[in-house]
Amino acid sequence: MSGKPPLTEVLLSPPDGIRHVELPTPFPVGPVNAWLLTERPITLVDPGMYFPESIGLLEDFLAANGLRVSDLDQVVLTHGHPDHFGLAGWIAENSTATLVCGRGEEGKILDRPWNADHARRVVGDLGLPEDVLLMLPAALELMRTMITHPAEDRLEPLEDGTRLEAGGRMFDVHVTPGHAQGHLSLSRDDLLLSGDHLLPLITPNPSIEFDETSELGRRRSLVEYLTTLDRFTKLDPGSVLPGHGPAFRDVPGLVRRMREHHRERAAHIHDVVTRLGPSSVYDVSRVLFPDLDGMSVMLGLSEVVGHLDLLFDEGVVVRSDDHPNLWAAA
Ligand SMILES: [Zn+2]
Repeated sequence: MSGKPPLTEVLLSPPDGIRHVELPTPFPVGPVNAWLLTERPITLVDPGMYFPESIGLLEDFLAANGLRVSDLDQVVLTHGHPDHFGLAGWIAENSTATLVCGRGEEGKILDRPWNADHARRVVGDLGLPEDVLLMLPAALELMRTMITHPAEDRLEPLEDGTRLEAGGRMFDVHVTPGHAQGHLSLSRDDLLLSGDHLLPLITPNPSIEFDETSELGRRRSLVEYLTTLDRFTKLDPGSVLPGHGPAFRDVPGLVRRMREHHRERAAHIHDVVTRLGPSSVYDVSRVLFPDLDGMSVMLGLSEVVGHLDLLFDEGVVVRSDDHPNLWAAA
């Protein structure tokens, strides 16, 4: 999505006492930001992925700030996606830092995998063809080489609405679903560490989150995401430090443009479904995102199914009576 104008006003540098390094990822989103709050408790927000070069870059970055990994008091994991938490296990082994995350992300960070049969069924229901479905286990195995898991007693899940001290200041803890079920953001008057919940250059992907207790077998990530946004509009801090891309401000403007984007994309998907007739989520995703391949196909599926959930709530698409995995214009 490079080359597009930012969704909001970007800032050149983070506030005093906060440093940052970009660490590599193999994903289309590009590098991930690690933010360092240099006062005690010395806190690193998102340590990046487990690559040799990430470890070297992180060690150099800490050294430039007069620190070693063993000096970290606390590591905040904004969510359990590999690009953000992959080094967590390595840091736990090389420091006594407390690791914190939002309640709901422990399963991913601690390596308690999804029920594979359930996951396969939900993804299969989205219409993923057999040949692509068969590639997923290998892709997941490859991903596992880029992450390290901390021991359970090193991870402290935080509840929404609590407080956390980091870098010498108190922060409010926000655990809000959408990009990830237990996504954690931290705010104080002038500052918001937003992880991937608010990003300056792209809209966060409404990731597919499996849920064996729900009728659909998954959460309605985009519907849930949009309901969280008003709270962040009210915060509107001077600086927002995101998981990817530059620092930014004007959260109300960003939220307005994101809502607009989702309305437009939903309308586009409605047009596609109308034109194609009853279609699977995968069919629609190939029209919108024909170039996605490998694991990235999942990003297209989650975008499409998220917007189909919105259209379903508006009553303009339905799930076909004969084939509940096919969607059609109402
Ligand atoms: Zn990310």
